[in-house]
Amino acid sequence: MTAFVVPPCQVSLTDLPPAIRTSEPGSFAQAAGYFPAPLAALHTLKAVVNPDVRGGGVVASQWTIRPLCLGEFPEFEKSSFTYLRNAGEKIRAPILGWLLQSGAETILVDTGQSSPEAANHWHSRTQRSAHQAPKAALWAAGVNPASLRLVILTHLHWDHCYNLEIFPEARFLVQAEELRAAVDPIPTQRFPYEVGIPGLNPSWLVAFNRLEVIRGDVDVAPGVRTLLLPGHTPGLQGVLVDTAAGRHLIASDAVPLYANLGTEESGPIPPGIHTDVAACLRSFDRMRAAADMILPSHEMEVLKHSVYPIQE
Ligand SMILES: [Zn+2]
Repeated sequence: MTAFVVPPCQVSLTDLPPAIRTSEPGSFAQAAGYFPAPLAALHTLKAVVNPDVRGGGVVASQWTIRPLCLGEFPEFEKSSFTYLRNAGEKIRAPILGWLLQSGAETILVDTGQSSPEAANHWHSRTQRSAHQAPKAALWAAGVNPASLRLVILTHLHWDHCYNLEIFPEARFLVQAEELRAAVDPIPTQRFPYEVGIPGLNPSWLVAFNRLEVIRGDVDVAPGVRTLLLPGHTPGLQGVLVDTAAGRHLIASDAVPLYANLGTEESGPIPPGIHTDVAACLRSFDRMRAAADMILPSHEMEVLKHSVYPIQE
């Protein structure tokens, strides 16, 4: 596996090597101002393909991205997503997995929540219909979970990394820093990681011998790269995916909602749950530099499209 070119975290746009800079005149990042603000703008902006990004103008691989709804928070406190904003406002929020497909290649990003019963007991109220159960959702998308070979876990919170037992052939990519943080969480993170709670064991233990620990930004497959985005958790990784309409970023809980992208006036809004708010803001800089489109982790709007890039 080849290390990707972006230095691990705490980089500013000017630190980035030319290969991933997208701030040149006419680029998406520039067109969007400080950061792509409203949803409408995100959806209508055309990605500008920087030839450097894809190696001399040749697109190595083109992927499609299918969001899979693997459960829902029917009434979630919005300020848990939008730091110090929207207190008391309740929203419906999906729990998403992402199916990346290119030719015969299939990669899954995140594997959903614990059972609604367990989630309701230990965490927040969730719902999961029969067709949202991961096995059913994958079969409905034409994928046999038993034959999946590669799963990327963006981080190890309970609503992103359950159900690993349904993937007997898969490797699970996780960041070293995330694993460290999950094994020895700060007190506020014990419940999200389900570590140190009598009666609970972290979900990933069932596949411990198939965890593949990576460090920093890593090429996972041609056209698919991880992007370290600490802040929500110490080792959260996004997934950059080359598509026919630019580089899409599965941002996971670094960007729970489109609202987190903020406006030109507000700047980006960190997730309400975080271990390092300054790191969250630095991660927004990394996203801005690397991605043409951002896909948030708990955003109902995402499900308005069954596949990304959005078909015209
Ligand atoms: Zn999380």
